Amino acid sequence: MTVVRQRRQLNLCLSLPDVSDRRHFFPLPLDPSATTNAVIASSVTIPAAELERLGVLGHGNGGTVYKVQHKRTSKVYALKVVYGDGDLTARQQVFREREILRKTDSPHIVRCYETYEKPSGDVAILMEYMDAGSLDTLLRSKGTFSEPELAHITRQILEGLSYLHSHRIIHRDLKPSNLLVNKKMEVKIADFGISEIMSPTLESCNSHVGTYAYMSPERFDPDANGGNYNGFLADIWSLGLTVMELFVGHFPLLPAGQKPDWPTLMFSICFGEPPVLPPGASDEFRNFMDCCLQKEPSKRWTASQLLEHPFLIKYSTADN
Ligand code: ATP
Ligand code: MG
Repeated sequence: MTVVRQRRQLNLCLSLPDVSDRRHFFPLPLDPSATTNAVIASSVTIPAAELERLGVLGHGNGGTVYKVQHKRTSKVYALKVVYGDGDLTARQQVFREREILRKTDSPHIVRCYETYEKPSGDVAILMEYMDAGSLDTLLRSKGTFSEPELAHITRQILEGLSYLHSHRIIHRDLKPSNLLVNKKMEVKIADFGISEIMSPTLESCNSHVGTYAYMSPERFDPDANGGNYNGFLADIWSLGLTVMELFVGHFPLLPAGQKPDWPTLMFSICFGEPPVLPPGASDEFRNFMDCCLQKEPSKRWTASQLLEHPFLIKYSTADN
């Protein structure tokens, strides 16, 4: 997917961080305003020296996510590392992610246990390990999701999103690869590198970082909207597109197999009609999509409203 985030080319020559070298990683002082995640981080002290690297889970924007094991407890975690000699944007993003993860405490937001920083500038975040990968990898391995499965998944994303929005946090990069899953089919929002914490009075933002493909029309073409947009409602568009992709099996604004490029995306997002579900989808699901994929942001439902939508109610069961 086309990405606006200033991606650096991953420098494969960089040596992997030696997370077992305790001399160089130090737990960071805690933010006193932070909530339970921070409490966990302070009470479950996991020195970097006690982590053993098991493999690579993913490469991202200027960093690498490793699967690591705590030698003493055998518990497995994910460790996101951004290198000190990486570009400034990547470092700013990992600091942003660290700030947000330490402030959040929701079963639908990936949990942060520790953060580390080396004098060299390498920064690492120790997170819970999501052992089924991302919704993106799951879509590619398992194929599309049924309506009941999607209702289960969507409810969890919305719980996380509603939590974030109620804490004035805009995610700004919702897409299948930033939604992580474990084998219990718990879905959690991850990757807060370009998220923003809004001030209590401000509704609109004017930053245009993010992944083009999942950007709402008003984000994609800020000039047409005076440069500002409501970030909360922009997240809802990205959520809608994500859910539709999981149903149809490909990026919904383009035919299956077509690689997105900037002009095609711009034409489709800004000048085309919002995508619609194929025949066979239920009326409730169709209506749910309409509530997310409105070109006019003020017509989109909020995360907490969507949690009450008939599509989710229809498939809600005791274990959902
Ligand atoms: P990008 O720029 O591609 O969005 P990023 O640098 O922001 O990447 P993440 O999205 O946080 O990094 O992580 C990259 C990938 O690593 C994810 O798509 C996922 O496959 C894997 N990953 C990240 N965190 C975890 C985790 N907690 N558990 C399991 N896998 C993870
Ligand atoms: Mg990501």
